[in-house]
Amino acid sequence: MDHSRADGHATDSMSRGGSVGVPADQATVRRSNLALVLRHVSACGPCTRSAVAAATGLNKATVTSLVSELQARGLVKEMGPQHAGSVGRPGVALALDGSRVGALGMEVNVDYIAAIATDLAGRVIIDRRIGFDAMGSSPERSLDELARMAERTVADLDRLGITPAGIIVAVPGLIDATTGTVVVAPNLGWRGVAVAERLSHANIAADIPVAVDNDANLAALAEYTSGVAAGTSDLVYLTGEVGIGGGVIAGGRLLGGADGFAGEVGHVVIDPSGESCRCGRVGCWETKVGLAALVRMATPDRAYGTGPQLVRDPEERLAEIEHRRAEGDPRVDAAAAEVGRWLGIGAAMLVNLFNPRVIVLGGYFARLADLIIPAAQQTLARLGMSDAVERCRFVASDLGFGAASRGAAGVVVERALSDPTSISSRTPPTIGDIEGTPMA
Ligand SMILES: [Zn+2]
Repeated sequence: MDHSRADGHATDSMSRGGSVGVPADQATVRRSNLALVLRHVSACGPCTRSAVAAATGLNKATVTSLVSELQARGLVKEMGPQHAGSVGRPGVALALDGSRVGALGMEVNVDYIAAIATDLAGRVIIDRRIGFDAMGSSPERSLDELARMAERTVADLDRLGITPAGIIVAVPGLIDATTGTVVVAPNLGWRGVAVAERLSHANIAADIPVAVDNDANLAALAEYTSGVAAGTSDLVYLTGEVGIGGGVIAGGRLLGGADGFAGEVGHVVIDPSGESCRCGRVGCWETKVGLAALVRMATPDRAYGTGPQLVRDPEERLAEIEHRRAEGDPRVDAAAAEVGRWLGIGAAMLVNLFNPRVIVLGGYFARLADLIIPAAQQTLARLGMSDAVERCRFVASDLGFGAASRGAAGVVVERALSDPTSISSRTPPTIGDIEGTPMA
C-alpha cells in the first residue's frame, strides 16, 4: 500500500491510527482486541501477557502482538518480572503507561475557566482555574481565554512528554455534541457558539480531537466513577454555581435523553410568582438556589449585578460568606437554610421522577453542606410521596469546582481505552505485528 497517497477514504481513516493496510473487518476485530487487552491491563494490571491471554481468551501470540502495538501507542508499558506462581519462568508485568498519553478536561463557567489534566489512570497531573467574568464578556473573548488556557496546559503537558488523547470542554448549557457547538447557555448569554471550532484554531496540535459536553452531566460521571458516592447506580448530581446543573445516573448510565439535554433542572419553573431568570422565564429553580440567590440573601452588598463588577471566583465569594458567618452574621445561616428548603422542594420532584439513592451536591452546596443539607433533607422528607425519600440522602461532593473538568478528562480516558487506535503510534507497528494480514 502506498502510504503517501492522499486520496480516498482509506487514507483519511488512517490519519488518526487505524491499523495500516488492514482490511476493514480485520481492523475492527483488531481494534476491539486492542481495547480488550488494554481494559484488562487497566483494571487488573500489573499482569503478565500470559495472564492477559488466560483472562481474555486470546492466544498468547496474538496478545504479544497486541501488546506491542499498545506499547507503540504509549498506552502500555513493561514493569519488572512478575512471578505467576512458585514454578516456571517469571513473566514481565504490564501496566498502563502514564508517561506519554493523557487527557484534558476543561470548563467554562459563569465566573471561571478551569483545566484538569490526568494520566490514563485518572491521576491528576495539572489542575488550574482562573476567575473570569464569562457572563460579562463576549463569547469570542471567553473562547480566546479558553484557548489560551488550553494552549498553556497542552504546552505544560508537552514539557512532561505527555500528549492529551483529547480535550473535552464542559459548558453549562445545552450542547450539540456532533458539532461541538453550544446551542444555548443562558447564564453565559451564549447561543449557537462553536466552541470546538474555535479551539481547532488554537495553537495546539491539530490531531488532538476537541469535543464539548454539558458540565453537570460530566460532573455526574465524575461522581459516579470517583466521587463520594462512587458506584451508586442511581444518583442525581446537582451543582450549585450561578446556574444549577443536574446530571442523572440511572441504572449505572448517564441519562441523556433524545437530544442529550436530560437533567437540565436549573430552569424548571418552581415558583411562578418568583423572580425573573436570565433565561427569560420567571421563578426557575436556580433563582431560588443558585449562587447569585445565596449571595443576594447572605451578602446583599456583594450581590451579582450591583456595584463595580470585579471578576470574582466563586471560591472568593464563598470565603467572604464564610468569613461573615464566622463573625456571627445571622443572614448567612438564614440564607443557607432558605437555599436548603428550596433544594428540598425541587429534590422531591427529582426523587419522584428518578428514584435516586443519593443526591450528590457539588459546587458551593458542598462548601455550605452543614447548613444546607439538614434543611434540604427535612423538606424532602415532608414532601416525598413514598418510602423512596427516606432511602434517599443528600451528600456533599468532595470534588469541588473541578468536578466537571475531571469528568471531562475521564470521558477522554474512557474513549482512549475503548479505541486504542485513536491514539497515534510513535513507532508504527511492523508488518509482523499485524497478524494474518495480506500486505499489498
Ligand atoms: Zn431560567
